[in-house]
Amino acid sequence: MSPIEYLRRANEVAKRARANGNTPFGAILVGPDGIVLLEQGNAEGELHDATAHAELTLASRASREFSKEFLKECTLYTTCEPCPMCSGGIYWTNIGHVTYGITEARLLKLTGDDEKNPTFAMGADKVFAAGQKEIEVLGPYPEVEAEIVEVHQGFWKRA
Ligand SMILES: [Zn+2]
Repeated sequence: MSPIEYLRRANEVAKRARANGNTPFGAILVGPDGIVLLEQGNAEGELHDATAHAELTLASRASREFSKEFLKECTLYTTCEPCPMCSGGIYWTNIGHVTYGITEARLLKLTGDDEKNPTFAMGADKVFAAGQKEIEVLGPYPEVEAEIVEVHQGFWKRA
């Protein structure tokens, strides 16, 4: 599958997260052979855990299931650029590649100062640049922006 197809799959996960009472974010983990290993939506609502962002929850699950050596070869696809907390989780679990659909700056325009997601203005690349590992970051993908934004419509005060 192409990056666009994986991002669309992550966006389906985001739709389910929203339908289940969580914020509209989704992420998937793809192995070096292209197989989707894990899917994870935002789970803040379900788990009553404000740190249960899709990417951090996915990284935690991946870390319990796979070795750091294996995760170095995996790619985390996420609808929106990971926040600094999730970028930290990706760093510590050793996931080697990250691909996102829309930038954190684009997300910030959607959420504004909504208390459900007072978005950072600090891209994942800045977090990774301050670390000691090479983590490949790809994105944004304008081809999927409209689809991803659509899942956020009506959720935030501004969107
Ligand atoms: Zn996050």
